[in-house]
Amino acid sequence: MPNALTWLFLAALLAATATRLWLALRQIRHVRAHRAAVPPSFADSIPLAAHQKAADYTAAKTRLGIIGTSIDAGLVLLLTLGGGVQWLSALWARPFEAGLLAHGTALLLSLFFIQGAVSLPLALYRTFVVESRFGFNRMTVPLFFADLAKQVAVALVLGVPLLLAVLWLMGRMGEHWWLYVWLVVTAFSIGLQLIIPPVILPLFNKFTPITEGELARRVASLLARCGFKSRGLYMMDGSKRSSHGNAFFAGFGAAKRIVLFDTLVERLQPSEVEAVLAHELGHYKLHHIVKMLALGAAMTFAGLWVLGQLIDQPWFYAGLGVTAPSTAAALALFMLAGPEFTFLLHPLLTLYSRKNEFEADAYAKGHAQSSDLIQALVKLYRDNASTLTPDPLHSAFYDSHPPAALRIARLEAK
Ligand SMILES: [Zn+2]
Repeated sequence: MPNALTWLFLAALLAATATRLWLALRQIRHVRAHRAAVPPSFADSIPLAAHQKAADYTAAKTRLGIIGTSIDAGLVLLLTLGGGVQWLSALWARPFEAGLLAHGTALLLSLFFIQGAVSLPLALYRTFVVESRFGFNRMTVPLFFADLAKQVAVALVLGVPLLLAVLWLMGRMGEHWWLYVWLVVTAFSIGLQLIIPPVILPLFNKFTPITEGELARRVASLLARCGFKSRGLYMMDGSKRSSHGNAFFAGFGAAKRIVLFDTLVERLQPSEVEAVLAHELGHYKLHHIVKMLALGAAMTFAGLWVLGQLIDQPWFYAGLGVTAPSTAAALALFMLAGPEFTFLLHPLLTLYSRKNEFEADAYAKGHAQSSDLIQALVKLYRDNASTLTPDPLHSAFYDSHPPAALRIARLEAK
């Protein structure tokens, strides 16, 4: 039965989808308009051909995003108001008793499966057509499907126990169930940080310790200067999937380690890698990782509290296309409809993330050469074909990092 929530949801979905499409069109128009010339501050470091490749690559990825946005909006509509969740619920009520753990688990797993299957063609197209056309893809079709099989296996091994625990708590813990679910989900996400580096990442990549050479010496001296203890410096064979370069920190506490993509080590001078690592160390030293985890936990808390208020309201289910309420259906509707209501808050999150990036850059400036970090950034922008001229509004919604020109200007400032 359509009710006020139905109209509210439709308005949110329409507003979010229209905004996503409008931002994508702005982005394409903006990079095209600036395609003819390299921005003056990069004229010495980025050739025109590289700048134009970045514009074309950005436009191609954004066009793909437009298709993805449209498919997602259609799927959300089909699963909610179109009766998809209700249909799945009725389907699984035949073999399992409705409302029991098995029924709820089957309902949610089949929902995730449908979402994954729908997004698969676009993922294949992105990897084997777009990434290949711009020379970034190194993935083979067998590797793609081997990765997919492993990802599904990991998701099932970790996700099914979590799902069972959540559904059990929802059914047993009375009106404060959401508080218990929050504790379990938060503990799970912290535990995940501890097992990802030693257990999950090695399923997908090979990690080789870097113990000798100039790079190892520079990193050891940087870590000593910054008073940082890690469980080692590793090189990851990122080149088996893509030629994009990256560096990251994984895990925390005793599990933390520094990982460099082989593609990054190949292209940057040791002093430039050192500067990139100083930036990453900045994130650690300034507690950005813990703060992001805390922010995630706070948002989960707010979301679960809202769901706690909705879960006993018949209008919540009726308004979103479900005629047989259950805890699993409530979770499903919440996960499907929730992001449409919160999309317009995205710029706040990217603003916070950019503040952290500027702080990490400032830290790197104090512990390494800022000229090395600038060089590294320019090389990364050039080699990854990242646009130097994003649309400001698109960037404010989506980019976790400030535009290159702004970062470099701050690094150059005294
Ligand atoms: Zn950063």
